[in-house]
Amino acid sequence: MDGTAIKEPSFRESVDLMFNRAAALMDLPPGLEDKIRVCNSTYTVRFGVKLRGKIQTFTGYRSVHSEHTEPVKGGIRYALNVNQDEVEALAALMTYKCALVEAPFGGSKGGLCIDPREYDEDELERITRRFAYELAKRDLIDPAQNVPAPDMGTGEREMAWIADQYARMNTSDINARACVTGKPPHAGGIQGRVEATGRGVQYALREFFRHPEDIAAAGLTGTLEGKRVVVQGLGNVGYHAAKFLSGEDGAKITAIIERDGALHSEDGLDVEAVYSWIQRHGGVQGYADATYIENGPSLLEADCDILIPAALEGVINLTNAQRIKAPLIIEAANGPITAGADDILRQKGTVIIPDMYANAGGVTVSYFEWVKNLSHIRFGRMQRRQEEARHMLIVKELERLSDKLGDAWSLTSTFKEQYLRGADELELVRSGLDDTMRGAYQAMRAVWHGRDDVTDLRTAAYIVAVERVAASYRAKGL
Ligand code: NAD
Repeated sequence: MDGTAIKEPSFRESVDLMFNRAAALMDLPPGLEDKIRVCNSTYTVRFGVKLRGKIQTFTGYRSVHSEHTEPVKGGIRYALNVNQDEVEALAALMTYKCALVEAPFGGSKGGLCIDPREYDEDELERITRRFAYELAKRDLIDPAQNVPAPDMGTGEREMAWIADQYARMNTSDINARACVTGKPPHAGGIQGRVEATGRGVQYALREFFRHPEDIAAAGLTGTLEGKRVVVQGLGNVGYHAAKFLSGEDGAKITAIIERDGALHSEDGLDVEAVYSWIQRHGGVQGYADATYIENGPSLLEADCDILIPAALEGVINLTNAQRIKAPLIIEAANGPITAGADDILRQKGTVIIPDMYANAGGVTVSYFEWVKNLSHIRFGRMQRRQEEARHMLIVKELERLSDKLGDAWSLTSTFKEQYLRGADELELVRSGLDDTMRGAYQAMRAVWHGRDDVTDLRTAAYIVAVERVAASYRAKGL
């Protein structure tokens, strides 16, 4: 099929089409549907930074989709093709995502048109600080109004620069650290944020595989053990998802698709080895223990059980949707399936775990980080030793009884060790994330299975999210 002849909606139009499909099944008051769908504002900034002897001009965006709850929240992306349409689509997804996982934020998103690989660390710091300055002076970075986070092309390092820039501009703001999330732990971050989105993908799949009816809907059987998984994009999200699914749940990563091609092995790829190869060589080409395929995207169509697009939007579209074989797709990236491809896949019976749920682990743990920054204390600091002391009371009592009953009744040392240890911050974060991912999935599936007019998880997710946003507007009297 010739892809150039096909008219595909833009990313933002795709998000709107999916929203409309759900809104048509809801009973919203007149006008509220439009109010929720539209993006409230998008700020475009162009600024110059003197680099390598000349001034270079950069273009950035910060879009606020909905302020039904503040602050608004959403990542900052560094990529050459960042544009207003994309940033607005991503901001809208943030509104629905936060509502679905009950994080008390409106939706926002930012982006800077830049290829970060073309600049050294010092240059990137100057560019990031200048961008942060432009946004902060307009309250588009602010702990109470607008809180960015990492996205494609940015990570802990950029978030630390942004936090420091904001603190320099607001020297008496005691909550300055809460102006951005995804910071390194030594700069006000939280344990488990870097892995959070990939960890959330794992928890989402674990929850999916707890429901036999849902597994059957995808034409699958059994558990995650031995499932053949194809991953596109071995960056922050894709790497962690692939690492946890293969290392902890026994799934087999049979293909990894990157910018410069793909690796394939039916025996399963060593995720850590491929990741470290990419770090050293900038791509997958040349990796020895797998078959290299130059046409990377062709592996999206490979025979597998689970497909995880974890790179960028629009990769499953009208040109390839019909040929996608995976019975289950989990959208780790934002918007990897266009609205047209979504129609085709639904007709084929493919089960799609939608982006607004699948990659919500990042914003969930960002929420925990923001709360930690506002409370100025690490999670578990007050309770941990007290919890251990109370557990010790029970263990001592059980030991006293088992002394009387004989050796066969004594406690094992592993039980004692595990039971006595109070939870640290990482364990608490994982517990909160797991609880959130389970709860949000159950809310979606209740709509998916509970209504005859809803046949897919994406529509169900929109209905749950939009209903919550609408309830918040109703409470304000709108
Ligand atoms: P990242 O920059 O860390 O990784 C992206 C990876 O995709 C890189 O390895 C890159 O080489 C690869 N890639 C880029 N273009 C590609 C192409 N054409 N084909 C194959 N691979 C390609 O980004 P990330 O933070 O992992 O984000 C990935 C996706 O997840 C994005 O859609 C982002 O919006 C979404 N997301 C990220 C987070 C987060 O916490 N980082 C949270 C929610 C959603």
